Amino acid sequence: MDLSTAGADIDRVIVTAPEIQARLKEIAAAIEGDYVDRDLLVIGILKGAVMTMADLVRALNRHVEMDWMAVSSYGSGTKSSGVVRILKDLDRDITGRHVLIVEDILDTGLTLAWLKSNLQSRGAKSVEIFTMLRKPDAAKVEVDVKYVGFDIPNEFVVGYGLDYGEKYRNLDFIGILAKGVYS
Ligand code: 5GP
Repeated sequence: MDLSTAGADIDRVIVTAPEIQARLKEIAAAIEGDYVDRDLLVIGILKGAVMTMADLVRALNRHVEMDWMAVSSYGSGTKSSGVVRILKDLDRDITGRHVLIVEDILDTGLTLAWLKSNLQSRGAKSVEIFTMLRKPDAAKVEVDVKYVGFDIPNEFVVGYGLDYGEKYRNLDFIGILAKGVYS
């Protein structure tokens, strides 16, 4: 869905569809360089990272394996609960694997900090993170992120996988949700 259809629900576009694809190409090239001669298991975090994952792996000019996890985060509100719960676990053992977590957004960092240590504790050989978006509060948390798509302002955003009450995931851009929609 594009902006002309989403209309008044979006206050401002912060990353356009072409900007997303161009940035993914750059990140894919960096990943190719960093993982030469190493098998790579890319783990997408459902549901927000579906679009990022699908476009990233197609931009990668090498073999990768894919798996998925689902964890609880915001529910249908706009504030982080800080409680992480596994809703869907990995399908396979990751012992000895080089793992790249693909996430939609890093806000408080609670989700990714927890996920990274969880995957490390399963015996992965390496665990790195790619987040498409990063908010300023992420600086307060000790979570080492290797690849970042875009640094964005501290606003509630939707689109390109990110939802509000399960809507707006299918926007082809990322925009700030109009406050009238949730207040
Ligand atoms: P954190 O644990 O870093 O605070 O939160 C990460 C999760 O919170 C993300 O995976 C995402 O589900 C949700 N989240 C954080 N900020 C936003 C936002 O601006 N928009 C949406 N739709 N979800 C967000």
